[in-house]
Amino acid sequence: MKQFSLMCALLAYGLSQAFPALAHGDGTHEDSAQARFETLVALFETADIVGKPAIVPCTLSGGTKTTCFSITTVAAPADHTTGPFCPRRITDTASQAGTWFKDGEVYDVDGSFIQRLAEIYDDDQWQMYDPETGKVTVAEGTLGCEVAGDPTSADRYKNYCVECELQNMAAEVTQTYVIPLHPSDASADGEPIGHFSGIGLALNGAKFDAPAPLDLILGGHTLGPFDDCGGHVNPRSGYHYHGVVGCGPQVDADVQDHAPIIGVAMDGYTMHARTDANDQEPDDLDGCRGHEIEGLGYHYHVNAPGENQITGCFKSEIGCTLDDPAGTCDASNVPERPARPGRPERH
Ligand SMILES: [Zn+2]
Ligand SMILES: [Zn+2]
Repeated sequence: MKQFSLMCALLAYGLSQAFPALAHGDGTHEDSAQARFETLVALFETADIVGKPAIVPCTLSGGTKTTCFSITTVAAPADHTTGPFCPRRITDTASQAGTWFKDGEVYDVDGSFIQRLAEIYDDDQWQMYDPETGKVTVAEGTLGCEVAGDPTSADRYKNYCVECELQNMAAEVTQTYVIPLHPSDASADGEPIGHFSGIGLALNGAKFDAPAPLDLILGGHTLGPFDDCGGHVNPRSGYHYHGVVGCGPQVDADVQDHAPIIGVAMDGYTMHARTDANDQEPDDLDGCRGHEIEGLGYHYHVNAPGENQITGCFKSEIGCTLDDPAGTCDASNVPERPARPGRPERH
């Protein structure tokens, strides 16, 4: 029995140390997993990381059991400031406020934008400022974070500009990303992007999020502007991007002049900037906005920011975004909570 318990201890040790202790196998897959792990650790070295990245067992969205890269980050960009978001007066300029996406374009949410909302959306129920004083109606401070985090608040905060600043959240938010070290076989059509996984992780530790539900937000006559980096804050995800405008660190791709690496998607494929050194977007992207290049393998290129769709879909099974750093990832068992009519799922 002594030997048996020694074996158990060794196995437990092996699991906790993951691949380095499993090198007694033929080594090929383990070594490449270890190499990928080290590549990912290096990519995220400037993020605000909690604890240490690790190799963990995981179950992907299609049920594949494999090994994943697990990293917990403070849900805030490590390399740039956040905000401003809502303007305070209809005379405020673009530099005093953030942005909004409409019809594929990025608009400055300056005072004039607020003033013209009824015209822009051809809907005279928009009235987000006091015509007498020119003051914009803003849910800000701790209230702004409560509203941003509460999907049932829409009825009570019609015609509000909703703004949650990182410093107004009740507690610092972390997110744990559990991402396959090696993407499973790519399915033909790709997986749609759901609300809860997010799309991936930017190299600065902030989330590349699923599209913001603009129709639902606008249906409630509210705005939740993004800052000039295409991100905003809610109490669950912290700071997260809905568009990529060029903020955040970039790492050169291994192929010269190819668009640089900006993050990693939830299915394990690398995410690259939209355009290359010559300002060209690849012309052979599939519906997920990915392609295969010799020297880089399959990878994604992000979309133009105003599209509110950072990538199109997932080519392969995804891992998990967890609120609890100690949680385990079973992405095959995550219910997609449908957005309730009239109750926008805020982002
Ligand atoms: Zn490419
Ligand atoms: Zn959002």
